[in-house]
Amino acid sequence: MNPEEIRFAADAMLHLLAKWVRLLGYDCASTPRLHGRALWETAVAEHRWVLTRNRRFAAEMPQSLLSRAEVHPLAGAQLSDQLRELVDRFGLDPVAYCFTRCLLCNEKLLPVERSQVAQNVPPAVLENRDRFWQCSHCRRIFWEGSHVHYSIYRLNLWLGTKL
Ligand SMILES: [Zn+2]
Repeated sequence: MNPEEIRFAADAMLHLLAKWVRLLGYDCASTPRLHGRALWETAVAEHRWVLTRNRRFAAEMPQSLLSRAEVHPLAGAQLSDQLRELVDRFGLDPVAYCFTRCLLCNEKLLPVERSQVAQNVPPAVLENRDRFWQCSHCRRIFWEGSHVHYSIYRLNLWLGTKL
Protein backbone atom coordinates (compact mmCIF):
# COMPACT_ATOMS: atom_id res chain seq x y z
CA MET A 1 0.00 0.00 0.00
CA ASN A 2 1.17 3.51 -0.69
CA PRO A 3 0.67 6.47 1.71
CA GLU A 4 -2.37 7.68 -0.25
CA GLU A 5 -4.20 4.42 0.45
CA ILE A 6 -3.96 4.10 4.19
CA ARG A 7 -3.87 6.28 7.29
CA PHE A 8 -3.42 5.48 10.95
CA ALA A 9 -4.31 6.93 14.35
CA ALA A 10 -1.99 5.67 17.07
CA ASP A 11 -2.90 5.53 20.73
CA ALA A 12 -1.02 8.24 22.67
CA MET A 13 1.10 5.57 24.34
CA LEU A 14 2.36 4.54 20.89
CA HIS A 15 3.74 7.97 19.98
CA LEU A 16 7.20 6.56 19.30
CA LEU A 17 5.77 4.01 16.87
CA ALA A 18 3.84 6.85 15.21
CA LYS A 19 7.12 8.66 14.55
CA TRP A 20 8.56 5.62 12.85
CA VAL A 21 5.45 5.13 10.73
CA ARG A 22 5.87 8.78 9.66
CA LEU A 23 9.53 8.13 8.96
CA LEU A 24 8.39 5.48 6.46
CA GLY A 25 6.28 8.24 4.89
CA TYR A 26 2.86 7.10 6.10
CA ASP A 27 0.26 9.32 7.77
CA CYS A 28 -0.07 8.48 11.47
CA ALA A 29 -1.96 10.81 13.77
CA SER A 30 -0.77 10.73 17.36
CA THR A 31 -1.06 13.40 20.04
CA PRO A 32 -1.25 13.26 23.85
CA ARG A 33 -4.98 13.84 23.44
CA LEU A 34 -5.47 10.79 21.21
CA HIS A 35 -6.37 7.99 23.59
CA GLY A 36 -9.54 6.32 24.75
CA ARG A 37 -12.67 7.54 23.06
CA ALA A 38 -11.01 10.53 21.33
CA LEU A 39 -8.70 8.15 19.50
CA TRP A 40 -11.57 6.09 18.16
CA GLU A 41 -13.71 9.08 17.23
CA THR A 42 -10.84 10.66 15.31
CA ALA A 43 -10.08 7.41 13.53
CA VAL A 44 -13.70 6.97 12.43
CA ALA A 45 -14.10 10.62 11.37
CA GLU A 46 -10.85 10.66 9.37
CA HIS A 47 -10.93 7.07 8.05
CA ARG A 48 -7.87 5.97 9.94
CA TRP A 49 -6.92 2.57 11.29
CA VAL A 50 -6.78 2.55 15.09
CA LEU A 51 -3.43 1.30 16.40
CA THR A 52 -3.58 0.32 20.04
CA ARG A 53 -2.09 -1.93 22.68
CA ASN A 54 -5.18 -1.61 24.86
CA ARG A 55 -6.53 -5.16 25.21
CA ARG A 56 -9.81 -3.98 26.77
CA PHE A 57 -10.97 -1.67 24.00
CA ALA A 58 -13.91 -3.88 23.05
CA ALA A 59 -15.35 -3.52 26.56
CA GLU A 60 -14.52 0.16 26.91
CA MET A 61 -15.76 1.60 23.61
CA PRO A 62 -19.42 2.02 22.67
CA GLN A 63 -20.71 -0.37 20.04
CA SER A 64 -21.53 2.57 17.76
CA LEU A 65 -17.82 3.37 17.50
CA LEU A 66 -16.58 -0.22 17.38
CA SER A 67 -18.88 -1.06 14.50
CA ARG A 68 -17.58 1.83 12.38
CA ALA A 69 -13.88 1.71 13.26
CA GLU A 70 -11.10 -0.37 11.80
CA VAL A 71 -8.61 -1.47 14.40
CA HIS A 72 -5.30 -3.24 14.48
CA PRO A 73 -4.45 -4.36 18.04
CA LEU A 74 -0.67 -4.56 18.10
CA ALA A 75 0.73 -7.87 19.30
CA GLY A 76 4.34 -6.76 19.66
CA ALA A 77 5.59 -5.03 22.80
CA GLN A 78 8.85 -3.83 21.25
CA LEU A 79 9.00 -0.90 18.88
CA SER A 80 10.90 -2.92 16.26
CA ASP A 81 8.34 -5.75 16.40
CA GLN A 82 5.45 -3.30 16.14
CA LEU A 83 6.88 -1.59 13.09
CA ARG A 84 7.58 -4.91 11.36
CA GLU A 85 4.06 -6.04 12.26
CA LEU A 86 2.53 -2.99 10.51
CA VAL A 87 4.73 -3.35 7.44
CA ASP A 88 3.68 -7.01 7.11
CA ARG A 89 0.00 -6.61 7.98
CA PHE A 90 -0.68 -3.62 5.73
CA GLY A 91 1.90 -4.28 3.05
CA LEU A 92 3.62 -0.95 3.69
CA ASP A 93 6.60 -0.15 1.51
CA PRO A 94 9.47 0.33 3.98
CA VAL A 95 11.72 2.03 1.43
CA ALA A 96 9.89 3.98 -1.26
CA TYR A 97 8.48 6.83 0.84
CA CYS A 98 11.10 7.12 3.59
CA PHE A 99 11.78 10.64 4.85
CA THR A 100 8.89 12.25 2.99
CA ARG A 101 6.91 13.25 6.08
CA CYS A 102 7.62 15.46 9.09
CA LEU A 103 8.19 13.27 12.13
CA LEU A 104 6.82 15.95 14.43
CA CYS A 105 3.64 17.15 12.75
CA ASN A 106 2.82 14.31 10.37
CA GLU A 107 2.69 16.60 7.33
CA LYS A 108 4.42 16.04 3.99
CA LEU A 109 7.90 17.37 3.35
CA LEU A 110 8.48 19.30 0.16
CA PRO A 111 11.83 19.61 -1.62
CA VAL A 112 13.27 23.12 -1.42
CA GLU A 113 16.15 24.80 -3.21
CA ARG A 114 19.39 25.48 -1.43
CA SER A 115 18.95 29.21 -2.03
CA GLN A 116 15.65 29.13 -0.16
CA VAL A 117 17.12 27.64 3.01
CA ALA A 118 20.38 29.62 3.13
CA GLN A 119 19.16 31.78 6.03
CA ASN A 120 17.88 28.87 8.07
CA VAL A 121 20.54 26.16 8.18
CA PRO A 122 24.07 26.17 9.62
CA PRO A 123 26.73 27.29 7.07
CA ALA A 124 28.55 23.94 7.26
CA VAL A 125 25.35 22.08 6.38
CA LEU A 126 24.64 24.46 3.53
CA GLU A 127 28.11 23.84 2.16
CA ASN A 128 28.07 20.06 2.41
CA ARG A 129 24.53 19.07 1.49
CA ASP A 130 22.72 19.24 -1.81
CA ARG A 131 19.19 18.28 -0.94
CA PHE A 132 16.82 19.98 1.46
CA TRP A 133 13.19 19.48 2.41
CA GLN A 134 10.74 21.63 4.33
CA CYS A 135 7.69 20.68 6.34
CA SER A 136 4.59 22.26 4.86
CA HIS A 137 3.25 22.84 8.38
CA CYS A 138 6.02 23.72 10.87
CA ARG A 139 8.40 25.01 8.15
CA ARG A 140 11.26 23.07 9.74
CA ILE A 141 14.04 22.28 7.29
CA PHE A 142 15.52 18.81 6.92
CA TRP A 143 18.64 17.53 5.21
CA GLU A 144 20.49 14.27 5.06
CA GLY A 145 22.37 14.21 8.32
CA SER A 146 23.44 11.86 11.05
CA HIS A 147 19.85 11.38 12.18
CA VAL A 148 18.94 9.99 8.77
CA HIS A 149 21.90 7.63 8.79
CA TYR A 150 21.03 6.31 12.23
CA SER A 151 17.39 5.83 11.22
CA ILE A 152 18.46 3.94 8.12
CA TYR A 153 20.70 1.73 10.21
CA ARG A 154 17.79 0.86 12.48
CA LEU A 155 15.36 0.26 9.61
CA ASN A 156 17.80 -2.11 7.96
CA LEU A 157 18.24 -3.93 11.24
CA TRP A 158 14.56 -4.13 12.09
CA LEU A 159 12.96 -4.68 8.69
CA GLY A 160 15.75 -6.26 6.69
CA THR A 161 15.69 -3.35 4.24
CA LYS A 162 18.79 -2.44 2.28
CA LEU A 163 18.64 1.33 2.36
ZN1 LIG B 1 6.53 19.71 10.67
